Amino acid sequence: MQQITILGSTGSVGVSTLDVIARHPDRYSVYALTAQSKVEELAQQCARFKPQVAVLGSAEAAKKLQMLLDAQGLHTQVEYGEAALCAVASAPECDSVMAAIVGAAGLAPTLAAARSGKRVLLANKEALVMSGPLLMEAVAASGAILMPIDSEHNAIFQCMPATCQRTPLEHGVEKILLTASGGPFLKRDVNTLDQVSWQEAVAHPKWVMGRKISVDSATMMNKGLEVIEAHWLFALPAERIEVVIHPQSVVHSMVSYVDGSVLAQLGNPDMRTPIAHALAYPERISSGVPAIDLIQIAQLSFERPDFLRFPCLKLAYDALQAGGSAPAIMNAANEIAVQAFLDSRIGFRVIDQLIARVMDAMPSVAITDIESVFAQDRCARELANSLIPS
Ligand code: NAD
Ligand code: MG
Repeated sequence: MQQITILGSTGSVGVSTLDVIARHPDRYSVYALTAQSKVEELAQQCARFKPQVAVLGSAEAAKKLQMLLDAQGLHTQVEYGEAALCAVASAPECDSVMAAIVGAAGLAPTLAAARSGKRVLLANKEALVMSGPLLMEAVAASGAILMPIDSEHNAIFQCMPATCQRTPLEHGVEKILLTASGGPFLKRDVNTLDQVSWQEAVAHPKWVMGRKISVDSATMMNKGLEVIEAHWLFALPAERIEVVIHPQSVVHSMVSYVDGSVLAQLGNPDMRTPIAHALAYPERISSGVPAIDLIQIAQLSFERPDFLRFPCLKLAYDALQAGGSAPAIMNAANEIAVQAFLDSRIGFRVIDQLIARVMDAMPSVAITDIESVFAQDRCARELANSLIPS
């Protein structure tokens, strides 16, 4: 029986994870669940999955949850705050940690899980973008197992034998092809992009996801973050990570080998597939996702991304090239810009402009420890906030 902690259990990935776990009560049980503020949802999850611990973002939210649990006679221990997140991510009782908090807030607990040798199911790509070398070092030092949940990286993992994942170039990998749907604005007149609302931006044509990643998909910053994520997970330089637009979202990514073979993983756009894969690996379990119907899909198409339409993708390649703290700076500026866009304080096109201005103003510095990453993150947030008209 594997004991699982789900960081961000009320989110899109968190809920999909619980859906898969519920299908296999003989294999998995829940050690801890966490959420920022959705107390009612977390209470319902506690009633169903009976975790030993539940963590919320504030004392007030924790008090509310405690009352709801007491009323039902449930004995889940209620905690709050970052230290509690790190504790449930590294507790000896837990074997696997689903890292599904959105944004930089997930870094500390994800790192705690990696340092304590857990099986880390990584959805929180921002953590790896911010601190790639530190997280990978922590995984290597503790013997933790890092399983990619992001559908593209999970697809690549499936198309690359485990023996070659740390040294793919020595094992005949030529490049990886990261597929991207292109989001809701792939075909929209570029000159009208400054007028799109956040409601239009979060209406992803293929995936149902949290709001932040949905906006990231519309700007293609999501793919940019994924290029950096792939760089760390699969030890490949930027020039061997190619983004291919594939609007049907059937091919989740591909690996191209020197002998001319290109291996792909195909499936429906449903996160329960990579979640089930990562939970059970190297075994396979049912996920609730039906197989794709190729006859009905009939056609798969591919095209090159346009950096003029999607400047965020270019910014991410630039950040990867610059190295050091540049990806953390870019990520922080993006989080601030996306939130400002979701709050209708800036227009869609201002997102990439704001990130570029912060990146220009903050030269990349070497990343030596996690404190230096957080310092750069804080500084970039302050700068980005100061650039937003009040
Ligand atoms: P979401 O917004 O639906 O859920 C986020 C979760 O994190 C919620 O449980 C929320 O309570 C928690 N959270 C938010 N802010 C927090 C904070 N400051 N401290 C602690 N917890 C906090 O997001 P999502 O779509 O599930 O995405 C989660 C992560 O997975 C992101 O990093 C995203 O990029 C990645 N991801 C998501 C998908 C997807 O299909 N949704 C696919 C690939 C990768
Ligand atoms: Mg993805």
